[in-house]
Amino acid sequence: MSETEFDLVIVGGGPGGYVAAIRAAQLGMKVACVEKRGRLGGTCLNVGCIPSKALLQSSELYHEACHGFDDHGIEVKPKLNLDSMLGRKAKIVDELTNGIEFLFKKNKVTYVKGAGKIISASQVDVVDGEDKGKSLTTKRIMIATGSESTPLPGIEVDEKQIVTSTGALELSSVPKHMIVIGGGVIGLELGSVWKRLGAEVTVVEFLDRIVPNMDGEVSKVFQRTLKKQGIKFKMKSKVTGASKTAKEVTLTVEPAASGDAEEMKADVVLVCIGRRPYVDGLGLEELGVERDERGFIKVGSDYQTNVAGIYAIGDCTPGPMLAHKAEDEGIVAAEMMAGQKPHINYDAIPGVVYTFPEVADVGASEEKLKEAGIEYKVGKFNFMANSRAKANGYRDGFVKLLADKKTDKLLGAHIIGPAAGELIHELTTIIEFGGSAEDVARICHAHPTFSEAVREAAMATQDGAIHA
Ligand code: FAD
Ligand code: NAD
Repeated sequence: MSETEFDLVIVGGGPGGYVAAIRAAQLGMKVACVEKRGRLGGTCLNVGCIPSKALLQSSELYHEACHGFDDHGIEVKPKLNLDSMLGRKAKIVDELTNGIEFLFKKNKVTYVKGAGKIISASQVDVVDGEDKGKSLTTKRIMIATGSESTPLPGIEVDEKQIVTSTGALELSSVPKHMIVIGGGVIGLELGSVWKRLGAEVTVVEFLDRIVPNMDGEVSKVFQRTLKKQGIKFKMKSKVTGASKTAKEVTLTVEPAASGDAEEMKADVVLVCIGRRPYVDGLGLEELGVERDERGFIKVGSDYQTNVAGIYAIGDCTPGPMLAHKAEDEGIVAAEMMAGQKPHINYDAIPGVVYTFPEVADVGASEEKLKEAGIEYKVGKFNFMANSRAKANGYRDGFVKLLADKKTDKLLGAHIIGPAAGELIHELTTIIEFGGSAEDVARICHAHPTFSEAVREAAMATQDGAIHA
């Protein structure tokens, strides 16, 4: 094979594309990954998961030092240095993206720098960037071009005063008032960051609940908890226009249904009403690659599009827009190309909101089970009664398990509380293995740990938790 001939060319070097590239190379394929950003890691590493988690961690420590240390008998006077906080975040991103370049070299994946355009099922041309002019010949193509922030009509993003998540990760000073349009995952995570650093934060949400896909009870408690932290909510409202001066943005806000418009002012507005698939410049129309009504690329169970030899995975395909979903699809698609028979259990993909407390879930919500007519039982345990939570000074939140009423099979798990994003994996494992709530209740859990709350919730689905 020549330097420009491959078994697989992947367009997009995010968690879907770069993980698929490494897996395919491990399985013996000659792989190229075309990425136009100038750095590997996609949205997730550069402007998504990682920088947001770095700022969530830093801002949580700052907030804790300002408000939580007294209780532990520690007296300090913290001072915010936003430049170094942002610098730390940038360094983490650099190290991780460079780490992927190293992994590419180690696995002999060819990193092609530039924008890829698919000419046919066996040819990708680089039409812009450092490697512009290269033409790659390949047996298969995988599209992993991800997603972008959904624009809100009437609101023009400048990434300074009116920002998407990308701008909200780079603000040069703490806003006095930040309005967040959309009470979803991005709004609540990044709203939390700036609230902790001193901004007044108001979330304007179209619906009557935040993170609408979350279990309803958890969503209510989550909102109440964030309110206690000082985040304000304007529910059932929509933003219909914006005007700005050098200092201020004025939003026109209307009730979601009907009613009088009002004005709201802020120095920074974060628009985060969802993300949409990104396939610009790929040439999909000319190739006849089918997309659904929301623009996602349609794929079969082998991740192949309607055009033989062209595959798609990750955010540009239907399903939850999560890095680990993209990664899993990348791995499974590569393994299928190599003749293996893996599968993804889409009912066992956990979701985590990295606020404080964290919120995590896997499997069905109560609403979903009701909708499906499945009879279920609920087991709940509050962190207030968990000794580790008490020792660490946490009170808010609970573990809630949903199990089939007849078979006891675990169907859903919902946690709001400390380390929820870690605790959820025990329950993900149980769901993946088709286990029951009793299985969880019978597993020995170390004491004192937050994990004991998981076991107690499982006991509550049987004949009762011990400490409730
Ligand atoms: P992407 O990561 O978007 O990567 C696609 C890549 O393709 C991009 O780098 C792009 O430059 C490149 N590309 C596009 N077109 C071309 C072309 N023609 N040629 C060459 N390259 C091209 N998910 C989580 O699971 N956990 C989190 O905590 C989390 N936090 C997030 C926080 C924020 C602020 C945001 C915005 C998202 C977050 N996500 C999180 C979602 C996560 O980032 C995405 O689900 C994930 O990045 C999707 O991976 P992907 O590989 O499909 O696409
Ligand atoms: P989202 O879908 O999570 O939330 C969007 C919110 O905006 C919803 O509550 C919706 O009702 C509301 N909304 C929609 N239109 C509106 C309007 N006109 N006015 C007011 N509110 C409106 O979307 P997001 O927060 O932008 O995040 C995008 C994606 O990124 C998500 O799918 C998520 O999976 C991913 N993400 C994941 C994580 C994580 O896993 N921790 C973190 C950040 C982002």
